[in-house]
Amino acid sequence: MLIDAHAHLDLEDYAEDRAETIERARQVGVARILNVGVDPPRWNSSLELARRYPGFIYLALGLHPTDILRAGDPDAALDRLITIVKENPGLVVALGETGLDYYHEDVPPETQKVYFEKQIDLAARLGLPLVIHCRDAMPDLLEILKRKATNRKIMMHCFTGTPAEAAECIALGPEVFISIAGPVTFTKAFERHEVARVVPLERMLVETDCPFLTPHPFRGKRNEPARVRLVAEKIAELKGISYEDVAEQTGENVRRLFGIV
Ligand SMILES: [Zn+2]
Repeated sequence: MLIDAHAHLDLEDYAEDRAETIERARQVGVARILNVGVDPPRWNSSLELARRYPGFIYLALGLHPTDILRAGDPDAALDRLITIVKENPGLVVALGETGLDYYHEDVPPETQKVYFEKQIDLAARLGLPLVIHCRDAMPDLLEILKRKATNRKIMMHCFTGTPAEAAECIALGPEVFISIAGPVTFTKAFERHEVARVVPLERMLVETDCPFLTPHPFRGKRNEPARVRLVAEKIAELKGISYEDVAEQTGENVRRLFGIV
């Protein structure tokens, strides 16, 4: 079962052709999509979307590290998130994406760390897995995870670290998964290729992060869930196994991690 473990289909980018985009995903065998709402307005748009596709679209909701200050009062926002999660059991299956992003400078690192740690605690309180975003911040991120989040259910979304950092993440607990996105398909992304080779399939997920991170040969165009297939095919090629095995095992991993049927 091929599953796109990370998409942003609620965004304006799909205002014109959202239904057709979802249909194209079904056509190539995508069986489930985890849509990620990154701030309060997009929690609403994500909920609206998921309610239209029950059993097909599930949600992760959280405060993205670069969107914390756009949430108004972030603490009040997180209180609202608790209510949303409680009102939508089985639909909101993860908290995130949360994490650290030192590439974008919208939010100071210290503020990012505070809300990352708060969301780690909140996920524990709500019994939800974490979807983690990390850009140019792996040492700080690993320090926080080792201190606060061992033996937790974690998806390392669009993993961009080294093979050694992937091993460190996996060592955090038996239910930590490394998610591979479109950049693995880029011809010269040698480190991404190596990560896909060394991370065991039992610890791997596939995702698009659409509309971003469009795989080769569609780079520069808007991304969409149907293209998660290109990611799975590239992983199969790199590991020397069949596409079906990649789709089956990564799909199984998503369902186990997020408790999706
Ligand atoms: Zn994302």
